[in-house]
Amino acid sequence: MRCGFYPGSFDPPTLGHRDIMCRALKIFDRLAVGIGVHPTKAPMFADSERVAMLEEELDSLGAGDRAEVLLFQGLTVNAARKLGAQCIVRGLRDGGDFNYEMQMSGMNAQMSPDIETVFVAASPGTAHITGTLVRQIASLGGDVSSFVSPAVLYRIRQKFQVS
Ligand code: ADP
Repeated sequence: MRCGFYPGSFDPPTLGHRDIMCRALKIFDRLAVGIGVHPTKAPMFADSERVAMLEEELDSLGAGDRAEVLLFQGLTVNAARKLGAQCIVRGLRDGGDFNYEMQMSGMNAQMSPDIETVFVAASPGTAHITGTLVRQIASLGGDVSSFVSPAVLYRIRQKFQVS
């Protein structure tokens, strides 16, 4: 049973995250999506909202009981091990992601040689999407409908009271 652990902030989940989850579900028997909780960072969407949005995304991808969403604090490798995941899944958008992820996966491998990192290259249609810019555009009243799923769009519109 191959289990992948896909960590991130998912604030909010975008079509880029969805693409990685869809493809990770083809690679792994089970996929755990972990929302990293930082005591000092205030997210735009509450923990419970992000859990609900990711569950909706996974449902609409037909993941069924092969996927779960959870909150975690602390080191990603520790969360992965606790879940019985052999691999951490990360999406790679560009050279910036690559440089950062190489450092992180290298240090994680040294700390935890039992956990592998698997990189999934972003798809051309969604590689430019970042959660940070989606938040900025939405908070300025812009249209983010081409960057997120209809279910996430609905929640963004509710939050910002835009139609
Ligand atoms: P962001 O960097 O957009 O704020 P996260 O911190 O939640 O998002 O990212 C979690 C993981 O998803 C990271 O591995 C990140 O590289 C990946 N990811 C984010 N956006 C995309 C995208 N558009 N395509 C592929 N992977 C992505």
